Amino acid sequence: MLQDPMLQVSRLAKTYGFGADATHAVGDISFEVARSEFVCIVGPSGCGKTTLLKMLCGLLAPTSGEITLGGRRVTEPPEEMALVFQDYSRSLYPWMRVGENIAFPLLRQRGLSRADRRERVRQAVEAVGLTGFIDGYPWQLSGGMQQRVAIARGLAYQPQILLMDEPFASVDAQTRADLEDLLLRVRHEYGVTVLFVTHDIDESVYLADRVVVLTPRPTEVQEVLEIELPRPRNQVTTKELPEFARLRAHVYRAIKRPERAPEDVSGNASEKAASAPVL
Ligand code: ADP
Repeated sequence: MLQDPMLQVSRLAKTYGFGADATHAVGDISFEVARSEFVCIVGPSGCGKTTLLKMLCGLLAPTSGEITLGGRRVTEPPEEMALVFQDYSRSLYPWMRVGENIAFPLLRQRGLSRADRRERVRQAVEAVGLTGFIDGYPWQLSGGMQQRVAIARGLAYQPQILLMDEPFASVDAQTRADLEDLLLRVRHEYGVTVLFVTHDIDESVYLADRVVVLTPRPTEVQEVLEIELPRPRNQVTTKELPEFARLRAHVYRAIKRPERAPEDVSGNASEKAASAPVL
């Protein structure tokens, strides 16, 4: 158990449908995220990551178990959470300028003056290196720049937790590396807690303080790894470290493990996670 968890996921399960048509998407998931921590969730495709995310952000009710954020149970989209999705082209409003896109969620925050909003937007745009583009429209920007706008929007909101769903999966490799480094830098500047879902093993090890490895569905926590690579991380020197290679190989093997027999899939995930090797 963590000292001061920001997010607690306890015995979470989700079954779609009933009887013979039931799909057991999420079996039994428990994990915690501490304040200011960067946690990556990684698992094979189809393992239920999207289902888990929808429950975390209060859009889908779990079949059993519970989620608490800052000590409060999540039953609807929490105001303290900001989301960044993979598909930046659908998450930005094309008719709004960059600055307006970033300011939009701030209108929900009562007690924030117009001057406060303007300052939050200015700082966030500067943090992601888009100051010169604040009056442009999203469609005038490259994919990587649009995703920077989405990140800036999340930062300006100053959430308790930033939830990111494969946010760099739609950009080219170089842009992806740049965005990973930008995220690490701004996360440090803002001190924000990040929960980052990805199927990219290298990305999870490179970014995280801890990696939660999921099993195939019905999803459980297979293992939680402490990533004790030095910070600040660097795309070249971090990835050259023997420890990086060891961790990435370890996660890779865990995810490529053959599917478990049906009789193995019941049981208590939190106990399994607790007894799983923590590297
Ligand atoms: P991932 O995001 O890891 O690819 P998903 O959460 O999308 O996995 O899906 C996990 C399982 O749940 C899949 O077998 C999928 O077919 C099933 N599933 C997802 N959404 C629904 C739904 N609304 N109704 C029935 N089954 C669903």
